[in-house]
Amino acid sequence: MLKPGDYIRDILRSEPGKSVTARGWIKTRRDSKGVHFLQLSDGSCFRDLQVVIPEGSVADDVLHEATTGASVEVSGELVPSPAAGQRVELQARALTVVGPADAKSYPLQKKGHSFEFLREIAHLRPRTNTFGAVFRVRSALSFAIHSFFHERGFVYVHTPIITASDCEGAGAMFGVTTLDLQNLPRLAEGKVDYARDFFGKPAYLTVSGQLEGEIFALALGNVYTFGPTFRAENSNTPRHLAEFWMIEPEMAFCDLADDMELAEDFLKYVIGYVLDQCGPDLEFFNERIDKSVLATLEHVVTSPFERITYTEAVRLLEQAGKNWEFPVHWGADLQSEHERYLTEEKFRRPVIVTDYPREIKAFYMRMNDDGKTVRAMDVLAPRIGEIIGGSQREERTDVLRERIRAQNLNEDAYWWYLELRKYGSVPHAGFGLGLERMLMYLTGMKNIRDVVPFARTPGSAEF
Ligand code: ATP
Ligand code: MN
Repeated sequence: MLKPGDYIRDILRSEPGKSVTARGWIKTRRDSKGVHFLQLSDGSCFRDLQVVIPEGSVADDVLHEATTGASVEVSGELVPSPAAGQRVELQARALTVVGPADAKSYPLQKKGHSFEFLREIAHLRPRTNTFGAVFRVRSALSFAIHSFFHERGFVYVHTPIITASDCEGAGAMFGVTTLDLQNLPRLAEGKVDYARDFFGKPAYLTVSGQLEGEIFALALGNVYTFGPTFRAENSNTPRHLAEFWMIEPEMAFCDLADDMELAEDFLKYVIGYVLDQCGPDLEFFNERIDKSVLATLEHVVTSPFERITYTEAVRLLEQAGKNWEFPVHWGADLQSEHERYLTEEKFRRPVIVTDYPREIKAFYMRMNDDGKTVRAMDVLAPRIGEIIGGSQREERTDVLRERIRAQNLNEDAYWWYLELRKYGSVPHAGFGLGLERMLMYLTGMKNIRDVVPFARTPGSAEF
């Protein structure tokens, strides 16, 4: 096992003269007269370790197997490197090929494969520069998220992945069943007899942990969930996955203003952490994927977010003099083009839009006194549009019940949600952030399939 100190990340920081053993995979190999060069990666950092093998120092048959894609163990001494951009390189004394690679068929021989092609070889793409960087940033981001909430005394709650309450209302759900689909038990009138299913009723994969999060917020104060979420929406876009990870904090004694402040602090904190910890990875994204990555991130960390109401946003969009693909009028949801105009042209920074018409938002959002808008907030970010969606929740039983009825939802299914308002209700609020959307923002990657280890999208669940 690799231990701190053995990682190539650590080796590259060591002084010349030190004896080290590196283990990893050969990214490229170059042979010149009297000397062989290996670029060795163990995934611990963006940089590869250059291994120099003078002719004759390693047996020919071993050297023969040390091809691109092979895994090796190399021992030797660090020497100052004449090559640009690296302090040290490894002068090999001993080389072992741990696992050879079939050199003829190894798909990552040449540089410059398309992301589409790399998706088809998702078992090998983590070995590329781009995907190594993506998944190191993903890990650092996840850690930053936990650390942000931990520092503020939030309790991490594991909300269920399987849910039998069809009441989350955030999108189409995947069913979970053990019934034999070829031979379904049926009731007299022909409907499926779910009483004979595993849970005795229809069950689904969760689309959000929010409602259960509220239960815990009304007991533990400040909580958050961070886990997988599933949506069976057939939207084949570069921004939607059928399985993605979501972060959902929920706070008791909290109104929309507090909620927005937390969302802004949160985004600044996690971006700051990744800027701090993943410098070389982000520099790569900035150079090779999107030239605006670093500038936008640094800008977001230092500038206050704009706050406007939905009604103001609609007025600004109407006055913009643009030929919108989706016409703007009060009551219509904001589309990507509108969100990008506000963040990229009008304000040139993240914008929090609040107080949306009740018709286009979920039933649980707190009704404003105007009777037309609800205490919702969306955080819009330059380049990608909506990144966070949140709201203050309706804490008044009568108003909530009315909203459930008005949206033709089954009141009985919400019995426990309504009871939370009956026993010690408090103003509370929260928001949801899609981990992969955030990662797209951090890396500049254009397709959400390229920031998740294994993408689940309509028609595709390989690996
Ligand atoms: P969109 O309008 O982009 O479909 P939404 O309004 O359905 O988003 P919410 O229900 O508010 O999104 O979910 C909270 C967050 O989860 C979103 O802000 C977004 O970051 C993320 N998200 C939603 N759907 C998906 C998806 N299919 N794949 C990846 N992330 C998603
Ligand atoms: Mn959606």
